[in-house]
Amino acid sequence: MATDQAHLTAHETPFEQELGHEIGGETVTPARWVDDLDPATGRPLARVGSATAAEVGQAVDAASAAAADWGRRAPAERGSLLRELARLVRRDADALARTETRDTGKPLSQGRADITAAARYFEFYGSVVEGAVGDSIPLGPNAIAIVDREPHGVTGHVIPWNYPAQITARSVGAALAAGNATVVKPADEAPLSALAFARLAREAGFPAGVVNVVPGDGLEAGQALTSHPDVAHVSFTGSVASGRAVAGACAARGRPALLELGGKSAHVVLEGADLDRAAPVIARALLLHAGQTCTAGTRVIVAESLHGELTERLAAAFEAATIGRGLDDPTVGPLISRRQAERVAGFVQRAEAEGTRVVARATVPDGLDGFYAAPTLFDRVPQGSELFREEVFGPVLSLTPVGSDEEAVAAAENTSYGLTAAVWCQDVDRALRAARRLQVGQVSVNGYAPGGGVELPFGGVKDSGYGREKGVEALREYSRARTLFIDLAAA
Ligand code: NAP
Ligand code: MG
Repeated sequence: MATDQAHLTAHETPFEQELGHEIGGETVTPARWVDDLDPATGRPLARVGSATAAEVGQAVDAASAAAADWGRRAPAERGSLLRELARLVRRDADALARTETRDTGKPLSQGRADITAAARYFEFYGSVVEGAVGDSIPLGPNAIAIVDREPHGVTGHVIPWNYPAQITARSVGAALAAGNATVVKPADEAPLSALAFARLAREAGFPAGVVNVVPGDGLEAGQALTSHPDVAHVSFTGSVASGRAVAGACAARGRPALLELGGKSAHVVLEGADLDRAAPVIARALLLHAGQTCTAGTRVIVAESLHGELTERLAAAFEAATIGRGLDDPTVGPLISRRQAERVAGFVQRAEAEGTRVVARATVPDGLDGFYAAPTLFDRVPQGSELFREEVFGPVLSLTPVGSDEEAVAAAENTSYGLTAAVWCQDVDRALRAARRLQVGQVSVNGYAPGGGVELPFGGVKDSGYGREKGVEALREYSRARTLFIDLAAA
């Protein structure tokens, strides 16, 4: 294959050319290879397997064979293996960050932050599982009940391309801690970090079959995994349409699914907001990974009195954004694929054709041949418009001025999504009153805690999904309660 390593600097780790599936503690040669493209150049970066249904079946069989023994291990043993995995991720952090950067296109500092977060997920779940305590239910002098938690068995994990290292670590970390054996289906656009974690899990000493990774196409490998009769629970992160298909496949055999879907998150900027604090955070959170973040705050709903000043500050931040390949650590890297870049360009063209005003646009430098999109700021975006309603998944931000707190909350709620939101106001009573009226899974006040936040339960409502990843809460998601009732003979 023609690898693209010509512009690697001397201290970069060169990529392995071919990366097979990780099944049953071994690297397995796939039946079929596909190119994994570098979004910064559009050229191949590695060759990976595109799993067939039969290969997914082999991975599920390997997990099924390992699940009973793994589920019976003491939490302290599972915890220490997870913490060892975290140590290996930190040991290899530099190479893993470069891999994640090249595979996804994101700026290198963000790739580094993602690898640090991944290590923290393994550490966090490796630690809290040892301290987990449960419930007993007193029933008077002659009976007691104990709620015993047990793993589901084999869990399936369908991962998107935008934050593969973090999303794999958060869901696999919690599932392993709870005692499940895992099968991961990364997106075929960005499977390298999940494959690397499986190899590191083997080095850490995880039993064979506990961590399996089979990259492949959603409609073939993804469907084979989520409809497999031996997969007891599915965690899906991705788009609304695919999530509903996965939930349907699980429902058809009566098994639970956890859905982490898209968002159209709002920054609600009320009168009395400190724009020195708000403006840089709003700009940074949107430009993060070129807007390809499920929690990107894509709608700014702003009090009319602050609208002019906030617009100027955001416009300055957008115009100052640098654009380039991830390894050069610009403000904004490329989008994941040509298809995604064309989709984002379509949103921008239609909004302009409808007469929505562009107040700032960064410039994509000449000579870049990857999949780039210019950060674009639109003003006075009408609430009925496509830009206000639909997830763009690119560096596009919309401003909508409103007259009162009441109108601001109503505008923020005028969406089918409910993932995250932020409320900005120095009067914290007023901010909290607004925040508690928003139907979202996570809301920040005078800050923005996007996806990262290992300790914070995270997930959506409405079209953004259901179930919760992250935090201690996820251990409940990846386990089920068995109630033990004990009847004591009357004394
Ligand atoms: P996507 O097309 O839904 O793909 C996500 C994953 O699902 C990929 O691995 C995909 O495989 C697989 N897949 C697709 N159809 C499937 C099916 N019928 N059965 C089983 N698996 C299937 O989403 P995307 O466009 O890659 O990702 C962007 C979306 O994800 C956005 O909407 C974003 O908001 C959302 N997201 C949400 C969160 C969150 O935590 N809430 C985090 C990140 C992203 P392929 O390899 O074939 O694509
Ligand atoms: Mg890639």
